Amino acid sequence: SKKGQVTEKNIHQLCDESFPLCMKILQLHLSRDHHLRNEGRYQYTLFLKGLGLSLTNSVAFWKAHFTKKIEESVFMKKYTYHIRHAYGTEGKMADYRPKSCSDILKGIPGPLEYHGCPFKVLDTIRMKEALHRSGIDRKDYAPIMDQVQNGLPQEACKTYFGLVHGENYPHSSIEHPNVYYDESRKIRLR
Ligand code: SF4
Repeated sequence: SKKGQVTEKNIHQLCDESFPLCMKILQLHLSRDHHLRNEGRYQYTLFLKGLGLSLTNSVAFWKAHFTKKIEESVFMKKYTYHIRHAYGTEGKMADYRPKSCSDILKGIPGPLEYHGCPFKVLDTIRMKEALHRSGIDRKDYAPIMDQVQNGLPQEACKTYFGLVHGENYPHSSIEHPNVYYDESRKIRLR
């Protein structure tokens, strides 16, 4: 496959290397629970679409996860509509764009929901767990935790980017998870 092409097979590697924390958390729960609730599915489907994942590959990706727990026929009946909808082949046939940080920041996840911006919605314990999973050194938690506590989620995300990539985010602020991804790929593929 051509360099940089996103398929359902390399999402996990790209996630480890380059996804922002809001998407890493959705992937973590999808892998763990073989399920994601509606809002999380929608946020993640649109992000992956923005990476260039085709509709066919998107269905294959979600199917592989969900059918670890449910029958394929149930998946096809209950869960493919939202994917086709996000790709604009159902409902209003609108070609929905991946959500920006300001859209995602409006999300308020309920029980067993993982959408939204983690730098806004995670409690201190979960935030530290997420930083640990991302390989960030404990001594570097403080600036991120300060920004989280001061209600500066996009600033915290920028500090996080700097720590996981070993160099600073090249723009003044993080406004979109798909731009975060693009900037990460430029560093990783150098
Ligand atoms: Fe995602 Fe934006 Fe929050 Fe970063 S600031 S975790 S890219 S929503």
